[in-house]
Amino acid sequence: MVKSAASFSRPTASPFDRLHKFHGGLKLPGHREVSASRPISSAGVPAILVLPLQQHIGAPAECLVQPGDTVYKGQLIARQVGAISAAVHASSSGTVTTVEERPVPHPSGLQAPCIVIETDGLDRYQDSESTALDYSRMEPDELCTHIRRAGIVGLGGAGFPTQVKLGCGKHKIELLLINAVECEPYISCDNRLIQERAAEVIEGARVLQHAVQADNCIIAIEDNMATAEQALHTALATSNATGIQVTRVPELYPSGGERQLIRILTGREVPSQGFPADIGIICQNVGTAAAVYNAIIKQQPLLSRIVTVTGDGVVQQQNFETLIGTPVSHLVAAAGGYTQDVERLLIGGPMMGYTVPVDNIPVTKTLNCVLAVTREEMPAPPPAQACIRCGKCTEVCPADLLPQQLYWYARSSNQDAAQDYDLFDCIECGCCAYVCPSHIPLVQYYRHAKSEIWLKETQTKASDIARQRHEAHLNRLARIKQERAERMAKKKRALSSDDGSSDKKKAAIEAALERVKQKKQQASTMPKNVENLTTEQQQLIAAVDKRRQQNDEPE
Ligand code: SF4
Ligand code: SF4
Repeated sequence: MVKSAASFSRPTASPFDRLHKFHGGLKLPGHREVSASRPISSAGVPAILVLPLQQHIGAPAECLVQPGDTVYKGQLIARQVGAISAAVHASSSGTVTTVEERPVPHPSGLQAPCIVIETDGLDRYQDSESTALDYSRMEPDELCTHIRRAGIVGLGGAGFPTQVKLGCGKHKIELLLINAVECEPYISCDNRLIQERAAEVIEGARVLQHAVQADNCIIAIEDNMATAEQALHTALATSNATGIQVTRVPELYPSGGERQLIRILTGREVPSQGFPADIGIICQNVGTAAAVYNAIIKQQPLLSRIVTVTGDGVVQQQNFETLIGTPVSHLVAAAGGYTQDVERLLIGGPMMGYTVPVDNIPVTKTLNCVLAVTREEMPAPPPAQACIRCGKCTEVCPADLLPQQLYWYARSSNQDAAQDYDLFDCIECGCCAYVCPSHIPLVQYYRHAKSEIWLKETQTKASDIARQRHEAHLNRLARIKQERAERMAKKKRALSSDDGSSDKKKAAIEAALERVKQKKQQASTMPKNVENLTTEQQQLIAAVDKRRQQNDEPE
């Protein structure tokens, strides 16, 4: 029985009022005061949009357009492939100029297939009419279908397709967690989103709450987000939402990590290699909740997101409403361009982000921050030295791992041992590397070890499939051979059990063969060249031939 949106009851005393602690973590300088204090500005429509077919975890979307096609804003241009995938929509109107490999946001400067649209500046929708869906009357499955069609993925960074994460009826969910704990320094897009669009966030949370049928919903913010908190309380007071509470968590990096936040708010641990849904919790980023609001209430797919453009390397640090596919270079220009002493460009924050060599990469659904830093602001790390076994990395690890051991095993490519030490529970937060006195780039070792293991698994799967196909081929050949042998045996049996007519035929054939044989023998006894014989010999042969003909004549 599906609960209606109005039937969620606010617990008199919330079971999630008490806060808990997670192991480790770091107090970091925020560096977000400037960008968080300025209103969100529109980055406008760039001359070109570059839309990668894969902006999410899972299979790349399948391209539905070709060069020369006219596209409208909101038009589906690449469809979801398989269960774990996400659709891509044109974020503005224009003409498709090419579908080709282009540089995408990736630490290695990776290229990937992208749809390139030359915009017409009109930002035209195909259908201007749209009516809000009454989600409260919908079944969770139906709601998930709408969310899937809108191409929504987790906007917090992971990019997991939202409908897959919601499960929509597959798990019993007790608590929906809306994560607005923006713990990484410099990033303030979620903070500004709540300050300016709190009502949309609340409505998006209600849609998600209905989709997972959860009685409880917590919108978690950081201690330093007083304005955002006020905006949420105001929006809650004017809405008829029930079962939603706003909770502040202490400023400690990485309290916005999914597992860490669940630990803080509930005291529960997500099992190693498991999911929050396994313990009755679904966690969604606050930007995702706003995107769900747009999809269901405004009937608009995911076309834009808020991006923080910050660091001393840009003129104006600010948050921008940015069309998906906008080149980062356009976004930097919207922020007044680079300063003279800019040194490096990062995607994401200083802890979990990565340096990119170029700025002609597009803003994707998961890109939340463009950080341009100066040398003074973020000096290059000194050369790494040997581990001195100080144990500082272990003290700060929020996943309660042994980073030093992981480093040894990752470095020596001992993948089994690294997995035994729960390598895949590492959230790559960078706390260990931040405190390491030997300046060892620990996270890089972990990332490399993980990708090696994934590669090995992929190769094992591929060779398993090849072996299965080879075995199937051999089985098919053996079956054909056996079928042929059975057919021959059947024929032989049929001949041996014949009524006699075949014996007569056989005798006739044998007699014919005997006659041919005799004729051949006779021919072989005759001299080949009669002209070379004496007259006497020729006369004798002629006489013999004549007598033979007389004998052969029928009576
Ligand atoms: S913090 Fe660095 S030096 Fe200290 S134990 Fe960990 S890896 Fe070794
Ligand atoms: S990067 Fe991994 S090992 Fe290092 S502190 Fe974070 S979770 Fe622990």
